[in-house]
Amino acid sequence: MTRIYPHVVVAKFGGTSVADFDAMNRSARIVIANPDIRVVVLSASAGVTNLLVELAGGLDPLQRSDKLATLQAIQFAIISRLKQPSVISKEIENLLENISQLAQAAAESPSAALSDELVSHGELMSSLLFTEVLREKEAGASWFDARNVIRTDSNYGCAEPDIAALSALAETQLRPRLENEIIITQGFIGRDADGHTTTLGRGGSDYTASLIGEALHVGRVDIWTDVAGIYTTDPRIAPKAQRIDQISFSEATDMAAYGAKVLHPATLLPAMRKNIPVFVGSSKDTAAGGTLVCSTTENPPRYRAVAVRRKQTLLRLHSLTEQSSSHFLAQMFTLLSQHSVAADLVTTSENSIALALDPTNATSGEDHSLTTSLFTALSSHCRIEVETGLALVTLVGNQLTEGTGICNEVYSRLEEHSVRMVCHGASSNTLCFLLPGEAADSAVKTLHHRLFEQSCSF
Ligand code: ADP
Ligand code: ASP
Ligand code: MG
Repeated sequence: MTRIYPHVVVAKFGGTSVADFDAMNRSARIVIANPDIRVVVLSASAGVTNLLVELAGGLDPLQRSDKLATLQAIQFAIISRLKQPSVISKEIENLLENISQLAQAAAESPSAALSDELVSHGELMSSLLFTEVLREKEAGASWFDARNVIRTDSNYGCAEPDIAALSALAETQLRPRLENEIIITQGFIGRDADGHTTTLGRGGSDYTASLIGEALHVGRVDIWTDVAGIYTTDPRIAPKAQRIDQISFSEATDMAAYGAKVLHPATLLPAMRKNIPVFVGSSKDTAAGGTLVCSTTENPPRYRAVAVRRKQTLLRLHSLTEQSSSHFLAQMFTLLSQHSVAADLVTTSENSIALALDPTNATSGEDHSLTTSLFTALSSHCRIEVETGLALVTLVGNQLTEGTGICNEVYSRLEEHSVRMVCHGASSNTLCFLLPGEAADSAVKTLHHRLFEQSCSF
């Protein structure tokens, strides 16, 4: 298929890149320096979404006014640095008033729909402010409500976008403006068929950028964040992590899926569908370069990265009878699917099943899948054990199933951390260990040191 806008770039700026006036200024300079950037997707200013999620959970009046004051301070610190603050300050005041009313409603009767409506205000405010910052630099910036094109289902907190609708809406609402305007819009938020605001799950702005990139079939998607690319592990955990200059879609997708927070897990799917390269770099240090994610890389290494996902849950189901294991498996998976429990990793033995569940996707960060009705249904067939607060540490690489050396070596390094579950073999590109949450950093450091900081013969 021919690319209609071969040079257009969609640029996404994360929370720290729009945290305050100076950060917005730096990000605005990146936009102005590259005339190919025609669409800008923004996160809420750093810390704002967390405050809004707390408000959405339902707080008492004192706690509410405390959070609202913090929100107001973040916004007005930016407004105070604008040359002409009057119009925008009115708009932000209105949004803060909405937040206050929604927070009160959430305290009386919290709901997932209300939460998404409330949380969306972070992106609405940052995008309005950024538009002003850019306009003051005399660039032709125009604010656009992403909900007009990002249509989703009604799975509040973790909504699924409608790709076909986005593609059609982008044609009529975005494409005609690309020539003359820089479109400034929000990441993370969408709208369902009933007109209610939805969100795509925490970190979802990356996903929005790549969805819009796909819909417009652009030349590149740039993700500007607070690290100069994708590293061999989170550099906050292992300071000796090395930047990966080029990585394939599938390797980076595995990293993101297994917890490398630098990209929302779904980010690369739209990019992959249209073969659009994704660049990841630091808005604080553009000269430092970054990582290019594209379809293939030369000589993919055996070990690519170590990722970690926290707050994981382990569900163990032990059969109460001597029935055949295939019957028990079928029965348990039927029940789990009837209760919408999506198991992330699974291991089985004769009469037991262990499932790792990831409750962290939804905007609220809470797992609502382990309901009383699920436990009631399960308990007539099995004994149930639940362990929360675990961490999934994953080695991402290529052909990891070839030979046993890696598994033995890695397992021996992690043995002291009382590993609860190991998954090896289902994918040749990942090797996963579920361990106690408090062991996560030490396990990541140990693995990274052994596989990326020393020479390996296995
Ligand atoms: P943004 O607000 O820009 O979206 P995030 O906080 O979501 O930024 O993602 C950037 C963070 O991702 C980094 O500060 C880093 O701590 C973390 N991170 C986790 N794994 C990796 C990795 N493999 N490479 C780079 N950063 C990583
Ligand atoms: N503001 C949202 C969050 O903090 C979305 C994003 O930053 O990508 O999760
Ligand atoms: Mg992010």
